[in-house]
Amino acid sequence: ATPMSIMVGVGRGAQAGVLIKNAEALERLEKVDTLLVDKTGTLTEGKPRVASIHPTEGISETELLALASALERQSQHPLAAAIVAEAQARNLVLADVTGFDAPSGKGVVGTVGGRQVAIGKPAYLAELGVETVGLTDAADAARREGATAVLVAVDGKPAGSIAIADKVKASTPQALAALRDAGMHVIMLTGDNHITAEAIARRLGIDDFEADVLPADKQAVVERLKREGRVVAMAGDGVNDAPALAAADVGIAMGGGTDVAIESAGVTLMGGDLMGIVKARHLSHATMRNIR
Ligand code: ADP
Ligand code: MG
Repeated sequence: ATPMSIMVGVGRGAQAGVLIKNAEALERLEKVDTLLVDKTGTLTEGKPRVASIHPTEGISETELLALASALERQSQHPLAAAIVAEAQARNLVLADVTGFDAPSGKGVVGTVGGRQVAIGKPAYLAELGVETVGLTDAADAARREGATAVLVAVDGKPAGSIAIADKVKASTPQALAALRDAGMHVIMLTGDNHITAEAIARRLGIDDFEADVLPADKQAVVERLKREGRVVAMAGDGVNDAPALAAADVGIAMGGGTDVAIESAGVTLMGGDLMGIVKARHLSHATMRNIR
């Protein structure tokens, strides 16, 4: 496309809340046939709240939340923010943390007031040698409702689970319908577990999804689809989405997302409304038609 027609397209996008950072993104958008979407913060609001707390015998709900939130105060993850907010709402006093670590896409670990605390997905706790069988029932019940359940271990023993729910964005169902009408195959990618992913996907009528996807694997999915000849757009908001956004033919970041996601993407949707992708695709088409 000519510099002039690109400028016009970029300007129209900006008016519609769609920031187009590079000419390639605008040129490629009309050819996109496959749209990968992150779940948390992209399809959902990204404002998760604690829905329920399930301590094991031998620990109180308050003590479990106090230990968990002290540790999560060190994390940038939206799930962490939900747990900390719940502790603040209950005016809990949080102990200091040492030896904090947060392996991406897995969970957090550290010493809280002299006790070893770990929080995360079952596979992560299993990796740390924690026996999680007794935590499964409560966690799975929450997942079937579309919530995320994180498991908590204290001193290497199962201590409970915390269910965290995130609302689907009001604009998401309509945007998904419009994206499908525009001929895009939508695939949901999430680091969340299979049961939660399936509950959300079913609610949204998405029949293709991959769960338990680690950050590096999101990028691998993008690359695999590109090798298969698909023209791939990826929409996401998190640090964990950044490699996939950079690898996609068109990376699309949510305006409220993390800086690294926005920097990795060619397009930013200001309000985080996925309908912006439909608008951007129309602009791409109009821009490319103008110069043909
Ligand atoms: P998503 O792709 O849904 O944005 P992530 O890849 O960031 O999710 O995380 C995947 C999973 O790892 C979460 O669903 C959770 O089980 C676990 N996890 C990641 N960070 C944390 C944290 N700070 N506290 C507890 N669990 C976490
Ligand atoms: Mg996300």
